Amino acid sequence: MLVQSVAFSLRRRREEVKKILHTLLFTAFFLLAAQLQAQTVFITKTGSKYHKESCRYAKTGWASDLAVAKKRGLTACLVCKPSSKETGKAELIPL
Ligand SMILES: [Zn+2]
Repeated sequence: MLVQSVAFSLRRRREEVKKILHTLLFTAFFLLAAQLQAQTVFITKTGSKYHKESCRYAKTGWASDLAVAKKRGLTACLVCKPSSKETGKAELIPL
């Protein structure tokens, strides 16, 4: 039956499209997750600052969430200056 085989191939194509859409969705999700991970900062046991991973002071520390660091009362390191929208306040101080 020609009709049946056409219907079958259409259904198959639809499944392929669905698969592609799922892939795109996953890609978008991972990109979003990666962006959220950009909020990761490094904190140390004794320090009162949070750092970038590349900071020399972060070597003895561990990864933490920016929100967690803020909740602990930590402030952005002046050496590595971790990028954060919330630390924009410091830029208002004229030097
Ligand atoms: Zn630092």
